[in-house]
Amino acid sequence: MQPVWRRYRRAAAIAQAILLTGLPFLKINGQSALRFDIGELNLYFFGTIIRIGDFYLILAATLFLLFFIATVTVIFGRVWCGWLCPQTVLLDLTGSLATIIGQKHRNLIGKLVLVPLSALVSITMIWYFVPPAEAIAGLFSSPLIAGFFIVLWALVWMELALLGRGFCTSICPYAMMQNALFDKDTLVIEYDKSRDSTCMKCDDCVRACPVGIDIKEGLSNRCIACAECIDACWLKSSKRDLPPFPNYKGRIMRPKTFLLGGLTAASALVVVLLFAMRPPVEFTLSRVQEPLPAGLNRYAYTIYNNSSKPLELELDAPEGITLIGERTISIAPFGVIRNKVLLRASGKPDEVSLTLHGDGISITKEAGFL
Ligand code: SF4
Ligand code: SF4
Repeated sequence: MQPVWRRYRRAAAIAQAILLTGLPFLKINGQSALRFDIGELNLYFFGTIIRIGDFYLILAATLFLLFFIATVTVIFGRVWCGWLCPQTVLLDLTGSLATIIGQKHRNLIGKLVLVPLSALVSITMIWYFVPPAEAIAGLFSSPLIAGFFIVLWALVWMELALLGRGFCTSICPYAMMQNALFDKDTLVIEYDKSRDSTCMKCDDCVRACPVGIDIKEGLSNRCIACAECIDACWLKSSKRDLPPFPNYKGRIMRPKTFLLGGLTAASALVVVLLFAMRPPVEFTLSRVQEPLPAGLNRYAYTIYNNSSKPLELELDAPEGITLIGERTISIAPFGVIRNKVLLRASGKPDEVSLTLHGDGISITKEAGFL
């Protein structure tokens, strides 16, 4: 008989590994589904773009993320740690492979298995900043990408091979934050003390625990909720028609679930609305401070294309103002154009305006004139 939770955890780990390594290859609207472009400081996010200057969007998305993490942690405890955290997934995988290859030198084999695995993790992390094809080519042609990859590879290997599960208890900020969020109803894995007299004290649960906890001694903040102890116990207890002694304990349906779930849903709605309300094109205009002959001013403008289609736009000045510079502007999908134009005005106006139009768009911006 196969242990129950391990089977589900393995399925979750495989799905997560496929998702994390596959996501950088997925393209939506011609761009990576999820990638932070360091050069432009843009986040490509499932068919749309978040620029570093979109403070309101970043703030709303951060709030949603905080509510989401708090909700999941308060209700489901360390479900992330035990089921989905790459640290757990990679160390579980390494442990299983090492056991299959050779139980005798398990530790050494585990460290060797981590060498190619760390390389895959490192290049996958780079894919979230540089498109996969560019990153792979860069390994052989760009000293920056190659150097970064080697340093990251070494760091990931050292973290997994030398710190291992110790990372969860000593460094991981999420682990530290979780203890503050738990309440008496949070889902945890606990030993049933009321049935202690029928426990066989075989210590299979202790041997199965990847962090070396004896769950019979009570809850430990080192527990990553991996459920290995439940499975180990169940293999024995089921032969006596008994439920496992360690098991999930908690109350999922309670007022706090609805309160936190509601806040998370509301913050998600705010994010969606802010995205929906964002204009497809943004246009800024400002006068450049520089000495020029009377009646002549230089202006810097920036045009952001927030849409996934290329745009052909025109810049126009009102009557009495002469625009000197490029009038026709082509912007790539999600692109940005920064340029300058000269404006000549007769009659010394206090302000001048420029209109950007085309493709169903018309935006007029004003700026001072000296
Ligand atoms: S006590 Fe059980 S659930 Fe907690 S880490 Fe150990 S094996 Fe996993
Ligand atoms: S595996 Fe189960 S039966 Fe054995 S010691 Fe642990 S709790 Fe008791």
